[in-house]
Parts: sequence; structure tokens; C-alpha cells
Amino acid sequence: MMRFLTTSLLAALSMLTNAAAHDSAATATYLSNEGIMVARGNTKILFDAFYANSYGQYALLSDEVSAAMMEGKAPYDGIDAIFVSHVHGDHFTPAPAIAYMRAQPDVRLYGSKQVYDAILDAGIAGDDPLLARIKGYDLSPEDEAISFKVDGLTVDVVAIPHAGGMSDIQNFAWRVTLDGETTVMHLGDAGPVREDFERHESHFAAKKTHAAFPPYWFFGHDVGEAILNDIIKADMATGIHVPARAARNGNAWRAEAGGDLFTDPGETREIGGH
Ligand SMILES: [Zn+2]
Ligand SMILES: [Zn+2]
Repeated sequence: MMRFLTTSLLAALSMLTNAAAHDSAATATYLSNEGIMVARGNTKILFDAFYANSYGQYALLSDEVSAAMMEGKAPYDGIDAIFVSHVHGDHFTPAPAIAYMRAQPDVRLYGSKQVYDAILDAGIAGDDPLLARIKGYDLSPEDEAISFKVDGLTVDVVAIPHAGGMSDIQNFAWRVTLDGETTVMHLGDAGPVREDFERHESHFAAKKTHAAFPPYWFFGHDVGEAILNDIIKADMATGIHVPARAARNGNAWRAEAGGDLFTDPGETREIGGH
């Protein structure tokens, strides 16, 4: 009860602070692979920021960034929530996520049931209070969006099948609105398959997305680009999951892709509001 009260007060204070800076844009900061931090004033979220497997080609978070996050040092202070797209090791590994949540006791984590189960399988006892801050949704591609509000965030999520026909993996497309102002969407490892998005057309149309983060294989792909342009219709789209070798060569990769990409950890993009 005390924690909820404190959290509510902090949320109210942060909304006041943000009201004073109403027109300030939100910022997306690239961590690595599909890891992103989105911050709007004191409202901050992480996507796919805790994982340990590079599969030999994707960047991992640097030790410096990992340590700063763990300690809650600026700009990684005051994270409200972690969103996980799916359970693959280049997006999620239980140990660093659990360690982070123990170090930052107000942070909540939202993922699939598979993510929740992976945390349990990592040796968390069923009565560990940590589990109260972790939510795993059992959502299938045909299911309607799940929506909820928490800590200045409005969240809607649908399951979009993983690229390559990996139908056994629950892959989520999180849409999160920060402080009712800035809406971002992270697509995880979604495949560029039109019907997988078309069945959720009303969900995508229901709210303006200011910045979308699709995997980079949506660019230069006819159907992928049609999905971005005709269904998601975000103000801007920045591709993620670009191989680590693109670092320091981002302009060439962006030109080749014909779209914006995050290639170098630490890169940022300004995001407009409504
Ligand atoms: Zn994957
Ligand atoms: Zn991946």
C-alpha cells in the first residue's frame, strides 16, 4: 500500500513537472540491438534492454551503460517500466533483468507469458515478491489488443508473429503513450506479413503513433514498407536490430535501407508529441 501511495505521488509530481515543459519532445535513445530507452521528462521506459546473447552479430550493451542502468544513474534514472518483445536471447535474458529489478525496486516489467515463465525457470521462487512487479500476458496473434494504464503510461499490446514463421514464439508489438502525449511502438522481431497486421488494423488506427521502431528488415521490403505506410502510419520510423558491424557506418546502412536506422549505441532521436 505504501509503495502504491508513494508511486502515485511521484507520478503526480512528475506530471506537474511535465506540464511545465509541455512542449518538450520525448527522446529515444538507442541502447543496442532492439534495446531502446524512451524518455519524456521524468517518464521513462525501456524496451528489450536486458539480454546476454549476441548470436555473434548483434551488439550487447556496453559494461558502462549496463552499470549506469543498474545504479540508476542519469540518464537511466527513474525508469518506470520495462517492456520485453519476446523471449529470444538477443532480446531477453532473465538474470540481468532480475538483477536490475532487484536494484531498482519501483520498476515493473511487462512481457509475454513465455518471458514470465523464463523468469520462473531462472530460479525465482513462486512466492518471491519480485513477481508482483512482473506481468506476462498470454496473447496470441488472433487475440484482441490488451490495454492498461500504469504510472503515467497507457499501454496497448498485440501479438505479431515473429519473422521467419517462428510460430512457437510469442512476439509482442507494444504501443506505449507517455504522459498522454507521446506514443511509441516497438515491434520486436515481427515479420513483414500483411495479414498479421491487417487483422489488427483498427487497433493500429485507434491511436496516432509518433515513433515506430520496426526491425530493419521492414525497410527495402515491399510489404514491410506498405505495413509501415498504410497500417502503422507513424510520424517517424527508425529501424532496429541492425547488426553490430553497422556501427560507425550508419549513413551507408541508412542509404542502403532507404530509411532511418539506429546503428550506433547512444544515438538519439527526438520524438514529437500530439
Ligand atoms: Zn527473435
Ligand atoms: Zn532478434
